[in-house]
Amino acid sequence: MSAPVHADLVVHGGTVVNAGGSVPATVVVAGGRVVAVQDPSLPLPPHERAIDATGSLVLPGGVDPHCHVGQRLGDYAQLDDYGSASIAALWGGTTTVIDFAIPDPGQRPIDAVHERRKLAEISRCDTALHGCVIEWDDSTAAQIAEMANTGVRTIKLFTTYKDVVMAGPDTVLEVLRTLHAQGGIAYVHAEANHVIEDAQALAVAAGEAAAGHMPRTRPELAEASAVSQVLATAEHVDAPVYFVHQTTAEAVDLVRDARRRGVRAYTETCPHYLYLDERTYSSEHPERFVCCPPLRAPETVAKLRARALVGDIDTLGSDHCCYSTHQKTEHSHDVRVMPNGLPGVETRLPVTFTQLVVRGGMPVERFVGMFATNPARLNGLTGKGVVAAGHDADLVVLDPALRRGARSGDLHMATDYTPYEGEELAGWPSVVVSGGRVVLDADGFHDPGPVGRALEADPMPDHLIT
Ligand SMILES: [Zn+2]
Repeated sequence: MSAPVHADLVVHGGTVVNAGGSVPATVVVAGGRVVAVQDPSLPLPPHERAIDATGSLVLPGGVDPHCHVGQRLGDYAQLDDYGSASIAALWGGTTTVIDFAIPDPGQRPIDAVHERRKLAEISRCDTALHGCVIEWDDSTAAQIAEMANTGVRTIKLFTTYKDVVMAGPDTVLEVLRTLHAQGGIAYVHAEANHVIEDAQALAVAAGEAAAGHMPRTRPELAEASAVSQVLATAEHVDAPVYFVHQTTAEAVDLVRDARRRGVRAYTETCPHYLYLDERTYSSEHPERFVCCPPLRAPETVAKLRARALVGDIDTLGSDHCCYSTHQKTEHSHDVRVMPNGLPGVETRLPVTFTQLVVRGGMPVERFVGMFATNPARLNGLTGKGVVAAGHDADLVVLDPALRRGARSGDLHMATDYTPYEGEELAGWPSVVVSGGRVVLDADGFHDPGPVGRALEADPMPDHLIT
């Protein structure tokens, strides 16, 4: 029998949901960590504060593997910073935000990492970073080693956006190989650039390059084509690989099949590819829905959702990008010029919980895997994504029966719209605990100040997800 702890917080009466199973339990928190998940029949240890979670689920805090925070890309700067983005994340039950250090033109990848780390000092929640390599040169291997030493072991590669951030196939190969030796994993945006450029040129020639024509400028098959090529490279160099924002069943199936033959390949999708479809481009504000890849045909969305429901998709990343309607409208006559991306760090949980668990019947344990556990594991974030003794006390309490309409005026992202305006969603958190601090409860939001830590990724084990 161990000595009784004095708890900072106990969360009792709820059902604790982990990817591996659910159990009615009391979560005991001290010093920012979970110190026990105990049988609900046991007496509560002495504590400072108790939260009654009767009738609710207690999930690990969300780990959002794909966020863009206050990034400037070309002419457009995203409107948030780590302060507002982390506050919005916490409101939405995400307690770890992973951002991208995309180098400015001429900037070394390692310097982009240092710069982003500095910007993250005002974050309210814990953060981590992906590096980004655009062109391989004599210094890149050493920079990747230096990134790994500072705890950045994931690197973004784009197979499109030529002359901006695109990495050629030789660079992709070298990064995959070098990163693997550092216990890391490449994050690939896979769309075949030549197909995209041609589709855009044809759209321009036809006078159909405006936001409302978004789908024809980025065909679905561009995705599977690039995934196939990168998978072959990963298999050749025996390195793991992670595909961001997959939108088609064909691309997901390629990754699944590669995994079945032993390639450590993983699929991420985003809330909007599961919930919205291309009919939004015929709405009053098509520009608000412009993202890359674009929202797909309803049949494609149905097939993607079916893949998620059977467990073929590993993670849910928001691909959060905060632009205003004004920014999106300014050049909406040409999708090549206007800013891409949707705000979503705050709505990732309710949108996907509604679409997958409530409507799709996904077991909530599988959902937790995609929302928190797998992203933590695939990013080497030991201590995240699980409600268990020894892990960080990042918790989300939600009443699965509760429904609320999404309204941009109720949200906290630094923009004036949500793509889900008016949608009746379940899965809104009622309590959020981040690092042992109650940041959201019935009284509202309690800003913890700039307490977020810059997490360092551990080298990843060989078998990340079985
Ligand atoms: Zn992105």
